[in-house]
Amino acid sequence: MNIRKASCIGLLVLISSLTISTAQAKQGPGPGAQPATAMPSVLSVPPAAQPSANFNADAATDAYLAQIPADASAKSDAYFEGGYWLILWDFLYGAVVCLLLLNLRWSAGMRNLAERITRFKPLQTLIYWAEYLVVTFILGFPLAVYEGYFREHKYGLATQTFGPWMGDQFKDLLVGIVLGGILVMLLFGVVRRLPRTWHIWAALVAFIFAMFTALIAPVFIFPIFNKITPLNDPKITQPILSMAHANGIPAKDVYEIDASRQSTRMSANVSGFGSTMRITLNDNLLRRASPEEIQPVMGHEMGHYVLHHIYKDMLFILVVIVVGFSLLRWSLDWSLKRWGEKWQIRGVGDIAVLPLVLLILSIFGFVFTPIQNTQTRTNEHEADMYGINASRQPDGFAQAAIHLGEYRKMSPGPVEEWIFFDHPSGRHRIHDAMQWKAENLKLFTPQSNP
Ligand SMILES: [Zn+2]
Repeated sequence: MNIRKASCIGLLVLISSLTISTAQAKQGPGPGAQPATAMPSVLSVPPAAQPSANFNADAATDAYLAQIPADASAKSDAYFEGGYWLILWDFLYGAVVCLLLLNLRWSAGMRNLAERITRFKPLQTLIYWAEYLVVTFILGFPLAVYEGYFREHKYGLATQTFGPWMGDQFKDLLVGIVLGGILVMLLFGVVRRLPRTWHIWAALVAFIFAMFTALIAPVFIFPIFNKITPLNDPKITQPILSMAHANGIPAKDVYEIDASRQSTRMSANVSGFGSTMRITLNDNLLRRASPEEIQPVMGHEMGHYVLHHIYKDMLFILVVIVVGFSLLRWSLDWSLKRWGEKWQIRGVGDIAVLPLVLLILSIFGFVFTPIQNTQTRTNEHEADMYGINASRQPDGFAQAAIHLGEYRKMSPGPVEEWIFFDHPSGRHRIHDAMQWKAENLKLFTPQSNP
């Protein structure tokens, strides 16, 4: 997600939260590039994490964390903590842009222009939407370029030069105009036809649209930004497919995405659902991680599938959208009574109301951040435990947690983790792995086998 989306396409933010995690998969490490926040590749299991009669999960966790150099920790903390402030700045910046569009009556002006071009209502909506996205793209650009380009380069997490980065921004804008355009035409059609009960029907339309987007994204949207190919290295795919089959997952292929085009981040993801569901590793993970590390990471992704997280997310999103649209209806009526005339907005069916809609939704989204994070983090924890169980590689998983610490603070406080973390912290993940190891020590002590 870039800033522009986070701030002003609040509507899409709300309903595309299903696809966010997958969209982030397009960030990955590039061949040869090493992030400035690079975490060590631990070659051996630290002594305190070796199996022994007095194995202690806390001591083993501390021993793993002690292998991270202080400067790598400091940089990773600075990067992640800076992100807390960006949540606030993105929100405020987006709110100011929306208020400007309303108070300067630019929104009304954009609607008037659309009405001069065509008399056909849905087409007016689409034209307004395109005008709106282009204007907010320009107004949001200073923050977008800082957050998405300069800051990522400063921490060594980005691999793109400015030209290709800008190219991706334009592609993003076009996808937003087309997909968002379809959605706003549908939603405003509903509002105009069903003025009394629109919040219920619009919530359903938005939900179905979010499902549709999640379904088509792996096949039609991700390939716009990255190349996704079946992975053909049996040394890597064979253990992964074997683990999948042992756990009742009918996977036939594992995919690779060239995330290193944009970033140095290591990641994997499970995306789509139904027939477009697929497990994908990014090339940064493939290049830098050992097989012992890749297996629990893939086990984690399989956990999302086996534990039906996609369907649980859908249910969660449905509830959020229904409640959100009811609050939206009330907030719109309240604000339009006060300022509608001043902003030259004729009512909720008038497309010029859009900046107000997005402002209200972004306020909801901002307040809702810790709850959304907690819902996601809970699923991620379940997937972690599934991945460790399926792979039986607690040390590989501890190493993965350290590598992921390149862009995520390793040891946050409990409140900090609750508010800001959409995955368990590195310390938590290592501790989970070491706790699992403590309870399964016999797997690691050959002399105890008959
Ligand atoms: Zn996950």
